[in-house]
Amino acid sequence: TGSSADVPTARLPLRAGLEGLHPYGAPQLDVPVLLNVNENPYPPSDAVAADVADAVAKAARSLNRYPDRDFGELRAELAEYLRVESGITLAAEQIWAANGSNEVMLHLLQAYGGPGRAVLSFAPTYSMYPEYARDTITDWVTGRREEDFGLDAGHAVDMIAQHRPAVILLASPNNPTGTALPLETVEAILDAARTSGPTGADGEPTSAVVVVDEAYGEFRRAGTRSALTLLADNPHLAVARTMSKAFGMAGLRLGYLAADTALIDHLRVVRLPYHLSALTQAAALAALRHREELMAQIASLRSERDRLVTWLRGRGLQVADSDANFVLFGVLPDRHRVWKGLLDRGILIREVGPDGWLRVSVGTPEETAAFTTALEEVLEQ
Ligand code: PMP
Repeated sequence: TGSSADVPTARLPLRAGLEGLHPYGAPQLDVPVLLNVNENPYPPSDAVAADVADAVAKAARSLNRYPDRDFGELRAELAEYLRVESGITLAAEQIWAANGSNEVMLHLLQAYGGPGRAVLSFAPTYSMYPEYARDTITDWVTGRREEDFGLDAGHAVDMIAQHRPAVILLASPNNPTGTALPLETVEAILDAARTSGPTGADGEPTSAVVVVDEAYGEFRRAGTRSALTLLADNPHLAVARTMSKAFGMAGLRLGYLAADTALIDHLRVVRLPYHLSALTQAAALAALRHREELMAQIASLRSERDRLVTWLRGRGLQVADSDANFVLFGVLPDRHRVWKGLLDRGILIREVGPDGWLRVSVGTPEETAAFTTALEEVLEQ
């Protein structure tokens, strides 16, 4: 709509660099098979849904009050979850949480980024990372991944020495490729980061904060270990997790991280007061009480993933090794045609990653069957 003479107009002072930008987000389309944002395809059971609803109803009775600002009970239960899931014992004070791991990582950039500072990552990787940088006025620097989407430790160490980033973001498993980092690579990066952060107020070098984003950590293949095992020796490490993926609670918006308490104290400075609502805290605690049931699906999603990888390779496609609940496949001469052909058949996947590749989330066996049948048709066209 245009403005007419008597309607006041304003030229809003949008910050330089934000002009013409669109909000991030995959299309939310109403189609039968949704395999585009790496959700867990299994909704909570009736028992879980009823417990969450009860907990929320109880919390609703004190909504006149602000919630527990430091969410101590939730932090303790998240620590307990990590103990069961990864075998690492952490104190509640070593856990931080926010509305999705996106917000947790934004807190990290708010505390450690800023003008004149850099955040380093390795492309292709999660497309929200440059947005955290943009929104905190931090320089965004990317190194490269190898042809198999793995990370060359020597290259990573060189990039750290060259750019002296304040924060290093490592997704493991990586989105959109599914690639997990061997812990030796993470250790090499942690060693290089120990004295390669920006210069502190005393003129001495700080440590760069290394963030291992394990949003998909629970899907890792047998025999691989979480970066949580490195926390004890590395006070400059933060391991981010989320309830959105393996835990099947994307709608809840609850992400968290584990780190040294000194790092957590820095995040407490930049968070908005009461950022986790009483309803979120209550629902998350109720869901965590059902962790055994929710975690039971992880094994079947893993085997469904491996089945999908085998099928795609059998079909002559290239597939990146995946430790996540999604698979990147290619190389397609016209990936948009394939994406659109699938959508026309009621299947939404994600057009993301290097040119020629597409990403598909692991669904139920029925959804996999619908996907493979449709893909077969589209590729034969
Ligand atoms: N990290 C990675 C690598 C992701 O793929 C995602 C979600 N797509 C997130 C973090 C953020 O998830 P959430 O905010 O739901 O925890």
